[in-house]
Amino acid sequence: MKYRTMSDYLSGFFPGKVRKIAVSAQMGCPGCCTYCNNAAFSPAYSLTPGLSVTEQLEAGAAFTSNKGSIYGYLAYFQSYTGTYGPTSKLISLYEEALRFPLVKGLVIATRPDCLDNELLDYFQNRFQNRFQNRFDNRFRNRFDNCLDNRFVLSNAHQGAESVRAESVRAESVRAESVRANSVGGYSASRVYDGFFPEDFPEDFPEDFSEDFSEDFSECLSEKPFLLIELGVESTLDRTLAAVRRGHDWECSRRAILELAGRGIPVGAHLIVGLPGEGMDDYLLHARRMSGLPLSTLKLHQLQILKGTRMEEQYRAHPEAFSLLTPEKYAEAVSLILRELRPDIALDRFVSVSPSSMVVAPSWGLKPAEFAAILERFF
Ligand code: SF4
Repeated sequence: MKYRTMSDYLSGFFPGKVRKIAVSAQMGCPGCCTYCNNAAFSPAYSLTPGLSVTEQLEAGAAFTSNKGSIYGYLAYFQSYTGTYGPTSKLISLYEEALRFPLVKGLVIATRPDCLDNELLDYFQNRFQNRFQNRFDNRFRNRFDNCLDNRFVLSNAHQGAESVRAESVRAESVRAESVRANSVGGYSASRVYDGFFPEDFPEDFPEDFSEDFSEDFSECLSEKPFLLIELGVESTLDRTLAAVRRGHDWECSRRAILELAGRGIPVGAHLIVGLPGEGMDDYLLHARRMSGLPLSTLKLHQLQILKGTRMEEQYRAHPEAFSLLTPEKYAEAVSLILRELRPDIALDRFVSVSPSSMVVAPSWGLKPAEFAAILERFF
């Protein structure tokens, strides 16, 4: 089975390899999710109190310096909630990260209920628009060769039915735009001056061509990259309530639409194996993810971590948990991938926390070993 990899997605924005360096805004989070222990997924330096973003990036860059040549770094605000805290303070931390040598952009992990309008405005204006994927290999030749022609990227490209730009013919642009708006929930389709067949219709509706030049000139600017990684975790309200996420599925759905509607690339994070969920639920998650304008998806298996509320629940009632074996989890991942819209890139599909922090299940597998198991389901 083929799926879009994260490196393929990133190659659409950068002409060379980029590597994430995890940092923390060190401003905590408003959540009390039963499964969470930040120490299990954050490098020790990022949780060292008082360490500045620059110092964290230095520590992370030193750690990755022996891993081959790179084009740049993405500062990854991974720990806790990367948009929690006073907006001006957050922006100063993001800007500090952007000043670090070779940092080409940010990845910010956060909750769907922690995005205020001021911050969204900053994201929208300061960073690349999600459609500015001008290195995308699928379009690159056209971009290089056909600058005199026109290019239409309707929202259908990111909508539930995922019509790729290549398949949008001039004669069907209007219909595609109308349909895209109905499935994607946007107020308008965007039109880009750029590359498209010469027979572009003269009578293309005025209102669609309004942001034409602004979008195109932005497309040619060198703004930093941004991906917002939203913790969705489940699309079932009963599960979200049980793990005390503090928000429901509708909140995640609205946040994804709001971000994408502002042109901000957005990824989702899901946990597979939460109590009470099974294969039918994973399938539902995949369908719901595919119906939204997501750019990336990150999956990980449920792990019961030390020091969490879930550890207490598990020790008191182990029978309430059906923890997945590697094979069952691989089956679930393959099910999700089959259902997932093909342009959504899979960021990661397994999580490896330090074994000293994991209560159960103890797989003892490296990501590559899990990938070999997953291959059997393809
Ligand atoms: S998973 Fe929940 S508790 Fe953990 S950092 Fe995110 S919001 Fe906070």
